[in-house]
Amino acid sequence: MENYKGIQVFAEQREGVIQNVAFELIGKARELADTIQEQVTALLIGHNVSDLSKELIAAGADRVLVVDDIMVKDYITEPYAQAVTHIIHEYKPEIFLLGATTIGRDLGPRLSARLQTGLTADCTSLEISEDRELMMTRPAFGGNLMATIMCTDHRPQMSTVRPGVMRRHEMDYDRKGEVVRVDIKFDVEKCNRVRLIRKEREEKTLVDITEANVLVSGGRGVGTQGGFAVLADLAGVLHAEVSSSRAMVDAGLIGHERQVGQTGKTVRPDLYIAAGISGAIQHLAGMEDSEFIIAINKDKFAPIFQVADLGIVGDLHKVLPALTEKIKAIQAIKK
Ligand code: FAD
Repeated sequence: MENYKGIQVFAEQREGVIQNVAFELIGKARELADTIQEQVTALLIGHNVSDLSKELIAAGADRVLVVDDIMVKDYITEPYAQAVTHIIHEYKPEIFLLGATTIGRDLGPRLSARLQTGLTADCTSLEISEDRELMMTRPAFGGNLMATIMCTDHRPQMSTVRPGVMRRHEMDYDRKGEVVRVDIKFDVEKCNRVRLIRKEREEKTLVDITEANVLVSGGRGVGTQGGFAVLADLAGVLHAEVSSSRAMVDAGLIGHERQVGQTGKTVRPDLYIAAGISGAIQHLAGMEDSEFIIAINKDKFAPIFQVADLGIVGDLHKVLPALTEKIKAIQAIKK
């Protein structure tokens, strides 16, 4: 275990574009590495991707290990698992982080089985203990409590983290770092068991609430009788997106792509307006890191008020239209 050093991040790229979650993980890895005075290494795998290394260094990596090979042009489990397993055996990181994306969720368990170490999936927080162990926190028992898990007997300590949970650092293109090319001897026979025949891109018509700066979010309190119109009106004047709690998704009133929370999206907008949302722990898990939270609820004891920067006790059907009119009036004066 003593030979294990540093923090490695799987820098997921798709078609030459580094995924946001990779930058978020490098940001977090940087903080953890500074605590234990170690290095951050980004692992970049693909074909003709070397140029992306500077992005990873600007984001906070000290070193980038690049596997540039036609075998790993597109993500397929076996060649990627072979490449990462080889690198982990060779470079022995103490900690290995992946995004909890479809790729990370496929790759992570393969690696943990091959490396005979643990994997804590879907972490919401990562910290270093006094004994330099990684404390990996994630919701447990249906999200009713948060469990902090440690992997004390095996290395690396591995975890996946959902996109949007960690905060990426400002890019600093003056940062210097080392770029090392790593050649992998692939077991081609094993790799050929699965081949990519063709790619079909799903048409992206769904909104991405994780990208919105302002979210107007509604819960069961909005009601079933066209209540979302009041949310949409406010969202319209604020150039915001509408999102919701799971209660509204389960009721079939809004699509799952707009659900915030443990089984929905993790969001961190500049402003999150929670209307008629009680503030269940599974909902809070997806939004409590928003910059500014305004809660509107007619129950002054609703738990949402505990995370709100501004709380309005009242009927959302009165408060939201009044707010919309007020904002419209201010906007009209500014014109
Ligand atoms: P409620 O809890 O019913 O709250 C409605 C609120 O509206 C109340 O506080 C009430 O006072 C207020 N209200 C009513 N009328 C008005 C009015 N006219 N004006 C103002 N306020 C009013 N939930 C999520 O949101 N996201 C998830 O990802 C998620 N994942 C889950 C995963 C698991 C494994 C489990 C077990 C649960 C999960 N849940 C999730 C569900 C979660 O536990 C809650 O049931 C859900 O968040 C409740 O939604 P709500 O706040 O809209 O409804």
